[in-house]
Amino acid sequence: MLRSMVSTAEREIRVGLWKIHILHHAAAREVWGLWLLEELAEHGHRLSPGTLYPALARMERHGWLEASQETQARGRRSYRATAAGRRLLAALKRDVAELYREVVLGRAPRGRAGASGENRGAAARHRKRTPSTRAGTK
Ligand SMILES: [Zn+2]
Repeated sequence: MLRSMVSTAEREIRVGLWKIHILHHAAAREVWGLWLLEELAEHGHRLSPGTLYPALARMERHGWLEASQETQARGRRSYRATAAGRRLLAALKRDVAELYREVVLGRAPRGRAGASGENRGAAARHRKRTPSTRAGTK
């Protein structure tokens, strides 16, 4: 087995991203270990089976994935997202979109649709905390 390209410390933060990825695919189709390893590798994430399989087992234990009976009989454990897994994915999509807006696009949080002035105030306060503005108030 190739040495993992991801350190233990990095794995701690990346494992959540991999799980979102797994949930995304399991909501759309049946997935299994090898397919996921290849899929994640295409995105540049080289996981070892020793990282992926325990993650799948934990996701199943949490009730986000369920193993399909027929493929289990053929010796391959396949998974689909459960209703709970789909609900979680929907919430995570909002989190990922928000994270992308801020971390990648560098935009301040926006008030949600129909939000009160309180949320818009939070966005304004957030903008005031940017280094350029802070330097100006000194
Ligand atoms: Zn993918």
